[in-house]
Amino acid sequence: MTYTVGVTGGIGSGKSTVADLFAELGIVVVDADVIAREVVAPGEPVLDAIGAYFGPEVIAADGSLNRALMRERIFENAAYRHWLEALLHPLIRERMITECQNARSAYCLLVVPLLVENKLTDLCQRVLVVDVAESTQIARTTQRDNIAAAQVEAMMATQASREQRLHAADDVLDNNDRELTQIKAAVLQLHQQYLALSGA
Ligand code: ATP
Repeated sequence: MTYTVGVTGGIGSGKSTVADLFAELGIVVVDADVIAREVVAPGEPVLDAIGAYFGPEVIAADGSLNRALMRERIFENAAYRHWLEALLHPLIRERMITECQNARSAYCLLVVPLLVENKLTDLCQRVLVVDVAESTQIARTTQRDNIAAAQVEAMMATQASREQRLHAADDVLDNNDRELTQIKAAVLQLHQQYLALSGA
């Protein structure tokens, strides 16, 4: 198994920004959000089960999952969400493990927004938390996604608290009030540390 560094952080904390900098150093990045979309891509067998449970209207004519309709259904009924998570989470977990195993770099990053919430810390040898103040999360996410602060706050309420996340951290990358050059320097330092830890 490739030495795996789990990267997590709340919405808009800067996980992608940080992961891109590790990728520039040649480190393989495995992204849970990408995998979550791949497991329900057109043609995936799991779509048959989803169509049977939620009704054929959740599968569009081109074979893709109607995400907006699914979100509505899940929002209406927590049991629907639990059913879907029970179906998809093991598949996502298996793919994350396989991609980390196949990673051809000294170590790999596993970027998982809900690493702490979904108890996935056992998949990594090290946990890096990208940390920002809640006010910064709100400011950056409203600007990036052009949505209201209340919407960001509602999403934050479904995620772990800053304290819970920091409690799970081996390393913390402070992404408050920082210029890109400062983040790059912090990433380079962590990179050296992870090379040493991975035995590279
Ligand atoms: P999500 O969980 O919502 O996918 P994320 O944790 O991957 O978000 P990013 O998309 O990397 O977060 O960053 C959120 C926004 O904040 C982006 O628009 C990004 O360009 C900006 N950002 C990240 N770091 C900084 C920084 N140090 N200073 C200013 N803006 C930043």
